[in-house]
Amino acid sequence: MEIWPIGVFVSCDAGLGLPLEAVREVGVPTVQLHAPHSQSRSAEHAAALSARLAELGIEATCMFAGFEGESYANIPTVERTVGLAPPSTRAARLVELKEIADFARQMGVTSVGLHVGFIPHDAESAGFIALADAMADVCQHCAAQGQAVHLETGQEPVDVLLQFIQRVGQDNLHVNFDPANMILYGSGEPLPALQTLAPHVQSVHCKDATWSDQPGKTWGTEVPLGAGDVDIEAFLRALKQIGYTGPLTIEREIAQDRDRQKAEIQEAVTLLERLRQKLA
Ligand code: MG
Repeated sequence: MEIWPIGVFVSCDAGLGLPLEAVREVGVPTVQLHAPHSQSRSAEHAAALSARLAELGIEATCMFAGFEGESYANIPTVERTVGLAPPSTRAARLVELKEIADFARQMGVTSVGLHVGFIPHDAESAGFIALADAMADVCQHCAAQGQAVHLETGQEPVDVLLQFIQRVGQDNLHVNFDPANMILYGSGEPLPALQTLAPHVQSVHCKDATWSDQPGKTWGTEVPLGAGDVDIEAFLRALKQIGYTGPLTIEREIAQDRDRQKAEIQEAVTLLERLRQKLA
């Protein structure tokens, strides 16, 4: 594969992302897929989806998990509802996450991504250890079928994420680095965070955002790529410097306006192609 193939974060029938059919018009060689709803996670659907992607000439590089009951309405709601972090839904979601990994395997997708949710900050706490144990369980399930697990960044400071990865202690656990999330959640400057996480970064989201006036308490604002506080050129320079050659997956979450979403993704593709050429 060429260096830095451009991609788009895409939904099949569930979750965020650009609808799959719109990707053809955008014209990119890779996608990350948000996992479909449970009722469509069959071997038949996996085969059909794989065939559709092959027809479009698109490689799926990662499948992102999502769960019923998750809400990104505001930061406290994310903390209460997202990922494996909430103890009340953890056992059921562990089962479902393995089913999503199995569906990805049926499609030949070799990595599974997720927002694990808000990791407790105290690495000695029972909550932190229980979440790390759950994560290790998922990693072992995925490792047995040749898959990696990518943790999305953003909901915690980078030192907490590093401690978590170390505690989980599984070789197939990596990071999907999303620079905009660091800003949206107010969890730290993205480029220094990228340096710290460098050995673990196996995929990235190209997304942009501006800081909240109350970082960590209220959301920052997601904006079109290049219009925010990430500094996309500096981000790509930093990726080059750490030796990252994987896909540049554009994420733009404005599902309420599909035409604008597609147009802005097309502009983001143009921007990334220009910067890729400049930095080559
Ligand atoms: Mg992201």
